Amino acid sequence: MKIICVGRNYGDHIKELENERPSEPVLFLKPDTSLILKNQPFFIPDFSDNVQYEVEVLIKINRIGKHIQPKFSHKYYDEIGLGVDFTARDLQNQLKEKGLPWEKAKGFDGSALVSSWVKKSKFTDINDLSFQLQKNNEVVQQASTQSMLWKIDELIAYISQFFTLKIGDIIFTGTPSGVGKVASGDQLTGFLENQQLFSLKIK
Ligand code: ZN
Repeated sequence: MKIICVGRNYGDHIKELENERPSEPVLFLKPDTSLILKNQPFFIPDFSDNVQYEVEVLIKINRIGKHIQPKFSHKYYDEIGLGVDFTARDLQNQLKEKGLPWEKAKGFDGSALVSSWVKKSKFTDINDLSFQLQKNNEVVQQASTQSMLWKIDELIAYISQFFTLKIGDIIFTGTPSGVGKVASGDQLTGFLENQQLFSLKIK
């Protein structure tokens, strides 16, 4: 399986990182070794002094597809989850400055938290899902999928022009504003439509 991530998909987060608003979705990949195994904590890697959380809505692909038309995208997933795209921001900024790929800052071991999955049919409108991240019981990120620059079905169509989507692939659909640094001892808890989907210890 592969993990495809979308960068800069919420206007307020683009502003907070002082990035340019892209004319097309920004894509990058995480390897399967980035997944945090069930019930494991997140370990802050020693190569970074500024690892940040990014809470994101996740889509799990359930059939193979290439060059998918947006109107058919909904046929390619039936489960939605919530995840954290852990980012070594200091390292990412160094690499960005040099125009180099981000992979070390975004794809390192343990950089992808994937929650349990919820059937899409449980939701009335996937383009208006509220989600939230709490750090030590305080809300740090909160948004709705309504604020996405590219909606889920548009993302699937766009991604599938470049990468064949396969069963089990996961799409991270981008983070809203409020990203911040994690410290050892923190507890991150994620909610989708007020349902808790993960709770993760930082070590
Ligand atoms: Zn992200």
